[in-house]
Amino acid sequence: LSLYGEDGIHRSPRPPISLPQDPNLSMIPFLFRKLSSNVHSPALVDAQTGQTLTFSDLKTQVLNFSKTLLDLNISKDDVVFIICPNSLLFPIAFFAVVAVGAIATTANPLYTAAEIYKQFKDSNPKLIITTPQFHDKIKHLSLPCIMLTTSKIPIYSSSDVALPPVTQTDAAAILYSSGTTGTSKGVVLTHRNFIASALMMTSDQETYGDSRNVFLCFLPMFHIFGLSALLYAQLQRGNTVVVMARHEMKKMLSAIEKHKVTHLFVVPPVVVELAKHQEMVKEYDVSSVKEILSGAAPLGKETMEECARIFPNAVVYQGYGMTETGGPISIGNARTDTPYSGSTGMLAPGVEAQIVNVDTMKSLPPLRRGEIWVRGPLVMKGYFNNQKATMETIDEQGWLHTGDIGYFDNEGRLYIVDRIKELIKCKGFQVAPTELEELLLTHPEIKDAAVIGIPDVDACEVPIAFVVRSSYSSITEAEIKDFIIKQVAPYKRLKKVIFIEEIPKSAAGKILRRELRQRFLSKL
Ligand code: AMP
Repeated sequence: LSLYGEDGIHRSPRPPISLPQDPNLSMIPFLFRKLSSNVHSPALVDAQTGQTLTFSDLKTQVLNFSKTLLDLNISKDDVVFIICPNSLLFPIAFFAVVAVGAIATTANPLYTAAEIYKQFKDSNPKLIITTPQFHDKIKHLSLPCIMLTTSKIPIYSSSDVALPPVTQTDAAAILYSSGTTGTSKGVVLTHRNFIASALMMTSDQETYGDSRNVFLCFLPMFHIFGLSALLYAQLQRGNTVVVMARHEMKKMLSAIEKHKVTHLFVVPPVVVELAKHQEMVKEYDVSSVKEILSGAAPLGKETMEECARIFPNAVVYQGYGMTETGGPISIGNARTDTPYSGSTGMLAPGVEAQIVNVDTMKSLPPLRRGEIWVRGPLVMKGYFNNQKATMETIDEQGWLHTGDIGYFDNEGRLYIVDRIKELIKCKGFQVAPTELEELLLTHPEIKDAAVIGIPDVDACEVPIAFVVRSSYSSITEAEIKDFIIKQVAPYKRLKKVIFIEEIPKSAAGKILRRELRQRFLSKL
């Protein structure tokens, strides 16, 4: 099969993955399918304390936690809300939830009480799993709670736990994403989505017989990149995941040296920070790092090259995916790709893509830019309780319209060049303009508002607002910024407020964000 067919479809050059045929092989049995060969090898390591869980320990912990959930009457299809910083307990809790057939919904620990409440209302959980630091943010949600303490985990002997039957088509997680438009929606991912994504993510390791790698995880585990591409995909492959609570440069470098980390998964702001702290990097032995994968937002070719200079033994490459695909749409091949091309690599195995001209809806050949549509076993089941949004995103032929603009080169590498969806990505996190606009409009002195993303050196992108004041109002930029600060996670804060007479809108009332962006950029 050629990479670009007469049917207008771009296909992956990688060998196909073989998805398990048994529909009852769900995520957790699949995760431990090779246990006999890696019982004593390290699965999870706490970067700070050095506590290590072998694959056998991990399985015991997951079963114990599952027993606790079953004792609390958590059963199939119940939603369990997880809000915890990264720790060894996070994957144990998440795997236990999916092991009993329940559905995990994960939230950003930076969320304010109001943001948590919004996700709580939408996902309707039966239980919350959290840590003591969130007590104040969750105390008003009348919900049973498992409070995790992040001190050393006791290892019990494996108890007999009767897990209910779970199939691959069952939902495993609801992660929140604003998709191409509007506010956050629950992305329903099935066990099969996670398994397929994990096999796609590690297919090059399979091809090259690469195993026992050591991954450092500071990417947040609540987000698809940390949860699916790193934790689940790498553990099912038998790799070790060294866990950090959050990204801190010094701690990251010391963890690399101490645990001889071979693989780093990063977001562009981490690379930018690394480039700024090259002297600090020299104080540590980072020679163990073989691969650095950046995803979640665009990373320029020059920054990739700079990063490669800092890590002399590492190949720096990119992957491209989204919450709605549960895993990688495209990913670089660390062994064969032209390094630092700025591309996001070739399609992951089993992924089909079209580049579509958004005016004519015709699919385009290599080197032509258009909207990226993708199809494959990684595509979400749909948005939770939101058929309308699902139908607007996945068409009748199963194509997911990404809202990203890109093109393929003649060798099948995918380049992301723009975004037509509203989404802003700040430090790799999602900021939905609609959410900030809705908040702004609740202020009595704001008549109308529009939020757009503008480029930022450190955060990649930051949100700014255009505001129409109510008549007689003299509200200031500082007052508006402060009004938002109180209600949202820090990365959603407005960098700038610009007062205007009228928000430009289409005849149908849609905010003309492109026009606003051009207006802003042309005045810089
Ligand atoms: P999320 O659902 O939070 O993972 O966000 C997905 C979006 O992040 C994609 O639709 C893209 O707009 C953007 N994105 C992810 N990876 C890349 C990449 N390597 N280059 C450019 N944009 C990316």
